[in-house]
Amino acid sequence: MSAYGACLYLRSETNGESKVHLLCAKSRVALLKALTIPRLELSAALLLAELIVNAEEALDFDCTFHCWSDSSIVLAWIRQPPREFNVFVSNRIAKIQEITKDMTWHHVPTNLNPADVVSRGWQAVSTEKQAGFAWAYTWLRWVTSIGGRLQNANLDYDTRNPILLPKDHPVTKAIIVYYHKKYLHGGSQALLAALRQRYWPIGGRKFVASVINKCVRRFRTKPVTWEHVMGSLPANRVQPNPAFHSTGVDYCGSFYHKTEARNKAPHKCYIAVFVCFSTKAALLEVVQDLTTDSFIAALRRFIAFPGGFQLH
Ligand SMILES: [Zn+2]
Repeated sequence: MSAYGACLYLRSETNGESKVHLLCAKSRVALLKALTIPRLELSAALLLAELIVNAEEALDFDCTFHCWSDSSIVLAWIRQPPREFNVFVSNRIAKIQEITKDMTWHHVPTNLNPADVVSRGWQAVSTEKQAGFAWAYTWLRWVTSIGGRLQNANLDYDTRNPILLPKDHPVTKAIIVYYHKKYLHGGSQALLAALRQRYWPIGGRKFVASVINKCVRRFRTKPVTWEHVMGSLPANRVQPNPAFHSTGVDYCGSFYHKTEARNKAPHKCYIAVFVCFSTKAALLEVVQDLTTDSFIAALRRFIAFPGGFQLH
């Protein structure tokens, strides 16, 4: 079995800046034995002509069409009168000539022909080429963008409406690999953040991690993440004792305390947090201000609490 395909790109120019987007693509499966290579290529040229007819009807504006083929034979054939060939070839030449009579045909080298992916299959194309086409393929028909809750944010249109990428799809993988290389083999968190500026890969976290794990360069360098060296806990943190036997103290705040009297302005206060070392039980005491006297008053209230204390 073999396949052939055609794709249509739209090139627009505004203020001297041009943009190229893939408009649509179509492929057909053919029996290899039944058709010679030039006949397959001729069928591809006809497919392109038919794609143009459909696009012309759908497009709401005028544009000139340029047709490209990587087959020199086909390009030579369609310049000849159809009657000189057998039925199969002449029928197709006639149709192509009819549809594309006002258009120009050009030659494109096979290695630069994006339709090559359509006909040979994605797996047969080198990763560099895949990455190059990845951006263009995101404009295929299945592309859906999602609207989040950031419509009013001061962000790019692409970030506000990321393109939905299907799970476990070769195109999604190619885009992830492309970004992974672009951002110098970074980790999954950084890669995901970079991707989400433009795309929304479904089940992204897992897929990104699996792509990164397969990266040979990353595996070779084996980056080691830095880890904290944890010290031993002090004895009074790990030995059994009655609650509040060993206690730490700190302040939190400030807070505003509103008195019951209506016309009195709320006044500042703090909270002393007494934490038991061994059980982590906490006792809170309100402190009026940051003076020593206030602290001692809070401490007295704490000591008045039943139990024996050893304060740190
Ligand atoms: Zn890598």
